[in-house]
Amino acid sequence: MVKSILWKYDSELGYAYFCPSCKKFLCSHEEKCKCGQEIDYSDPVQYKGKVKWS
Ligand SMILES: [Zn+2]
Repeated sequence: MVKSILWKYDSELGYAYFCPSCKKFLCSHEEKCKCGQEIDYSDPVQYKGKVKWS
């Protein structure tokens, strides 16, 4: 199932985007995360929880 991308503001990167499923940083607008999650970029959701940078 496709889920909306998560975004978070980072002091160094500015707006950064993360997989809504595994919370991994996505650097190049992948349509599908490595975990298998399909991602919708049309309606980003703010996320304030913990994320994974690598
Ligand atoms: Zn993922």
